[in-house]
Amino acid sequence: MNNELTFWKDKKILVTGGAGYIGSHTVKELTKRGFETVVYDNLEKGHREAVVDGEFVLGDLADLDTLRETFTKHRIDSVIHFAADSEVGESVKNPAKYFQNNVANGLNLLRVMLENGVKKIVFSSTAAVYGEPERIPILESDKTLPTNPYGESKLIFENILKYYELAYGLRYISLRYFNAAGADPDGLIGEDHNPETHLIPLVLQTALGLKDEVEIFGTDYDTPDGTCIRDYIHVTDLAEAHILALEALAKGGESKIYNLGNGNGYSVKEVIEVAKKVVRREIKTVLSERRQGDPSILVASSEKIMRELGWKPKYEKLETIIETAWNWYKSNRAGWNMEILYKRGDL
Ligand code: UDP
Repeated sequence: MNNELTFWKDKKILVTGGAGYIGSHTVKELTKRGFETVVYDNLEKGHREAVVDGEFVLGDLADLDTLRETFTKHRIDSVIHFAADSEVGESVKNPAKYFQNNVANGLNLLRVMLENGVKKIVFSSTAAVYGEPERIPILESDKTLPTNPYGESKLIFENILKYYELAYGLRYISLRYFNAAGADPDGLIGEDHNPETHLIPLVLQTALGLKDEVEIFGTDYDTPDGTCIRDYIHVTDLAEAHILALEALAKGGESKIYNLGNGNGYSVKEVIEVAKKVVRREIKTVLSERRQGDPSILVASSEKIMRELGWKPKYEKLETIIETAWNWYKSNRAGWNMEILYKRGDL
């Protein structure tokens, strides 16, 4: 443990949603640096096996008793809050779920934090707070007008944090992720949603023959090839940003909002082309209708976090990002997803 980390001795970081995709990669990086973690996850979407380090509590944010017990049992210094529903399409169909889980249950967390005098939080926000951007790349100061309930629920929570700071002295860093992708370069953990809705895993599952084809949602967007453009950022680079944010708050840093992306946009068709090069296999596609709630282009400016916290992505190239995801699929560990094992005939 280096000097800076002596501050953290005997203190723990509560990671809500730490069994999920970005949460589990962040816990792994935190442990590598000597931080102690307590993961709080209801395992609705997360995987117990993905929590490779630290302590684990099976709990829901709706459950105030278990939350309170967790804070009483462990000396929590700060919180990284990932636990949320995060699918744009589902949020359009079922907004109640999104406002309940991402806003109301999040308020429970803030309540118990304040009851215990815990006043530092790193919040998992999203590029979806911007909606259709007014310019590219998007700056943190640009207008926020979400086009779906998922983005709206995250924006509401960002605003709640702002007012909690004014009233209760809570300090926060909200990280607006663009498209998280890739897997732990050590190959231990990766992305495993069930059902899977994200582009890169679906493309790789198609390459593996687990799906017949990839649907391209919308080919009439105002982009060069008509498909949506996104900014893909490696999950380990995202994890690193959480650690920098945590350290900034620990040093007394002010509340902030930061974008996190690579600053490069790739269309859906371009992602599929890069993936074909990585996997050296054919990937069948089918043109489909637009998915409701999808803005045409989302590309970040991450200058602010680079300048203020010294963050720098290590896995910038889309090819490298897809390679790490592909290696994880090939390692067979993606088999937490029983459906995949079943289809392979391994069950
Ligand atoms: N997408 C697609 N086919 C799929 C899944 C996603 O064309 O089967 C598109 C989607 O419309 C979006 C981009 O790929 O433009 C990235 O979608 P994803 O769900 O991976 O992330 P999101 O942008 O929703 O966070």
